[in-house]
Amino acid sequence: MKRSDNRVSKIINILKSEYPRTKTALKFKTPHQMLVSTILSAQCTDERVNKVTEELFEKYKSVYDFAKADLQKLQDDIRSTGFYKNKSKNIVKSSQKIAYEYNGNVPDEMEELLKLPGVARKTANVVLNNAFDKSEGIVVDTHVKRLSQRLGLTTQKNADKIEKDLMQIIPKEEWKNISYRLISHGRRICSAKKPKCDRCSLSKLCPSAFSFH
Ligand code: SF4
Repeated sequence: MKRSDNRVSKIINILKSEYPRTKTALKFKTPHQMLVSTILSAQCTDERVNKVTEELFEKYKSVYDFAKADLQKLQDDIRSTGFYKNKSKNIVKSSQKIAYEYNGNVPDEMEELLKLPGVARKTANVVLNNAFDKSEGIVVDTHVKRLSQRLGLTTQKNADKIEKDLMQIIPKEEWKNISYRLISHGRRICSAKKPKCDRCSLSKLCPSAFSFH
């Protein structure tokens, strides 16, 4: 942490007490299953992904099964998660790279994860957090992006730049959990269209409070 102020610490502490549980809802047993689930979760709910992977991981038991999967069949298997053409291509290609260049093991470093087809920082951060209990950055999804902007934690629009700003002001030990907490708060209180500032525990600390009414 390079800089943290009182306001940021207060925000972190309030979110911590309000959302103590920060485990991913995605079901997985191996780092590779975590990677596949994370790829499938783009623009899709965790519930839907879990439903699909319940059968998928029975059918494709290892990284090698995914590496040699028939693209058309895999597309059919994951169709209900949306964007199935891109997702199946990324799953097969990244599995091939893991199988043949990493001895079947998902790499546990950001730099290596980013070399996998279809894996950007957000996916890599989720995999590192959940499969390896490591934090090399902060997951910035649409909720984290919106709340960081409204709470005045960043003035950036680009996810990678927002992540950099957050990493400057949030202590490293909070990197993993802050995303889940902001996502929960975004879903429950600070929604995109109608933020419930009157019910928000952060309203006294938020420069955007009540500016939507
Ligand atoms: S005060 Fe309003 S804008 Fe600020 S975080 Fe809470 S709900 Fe969002």
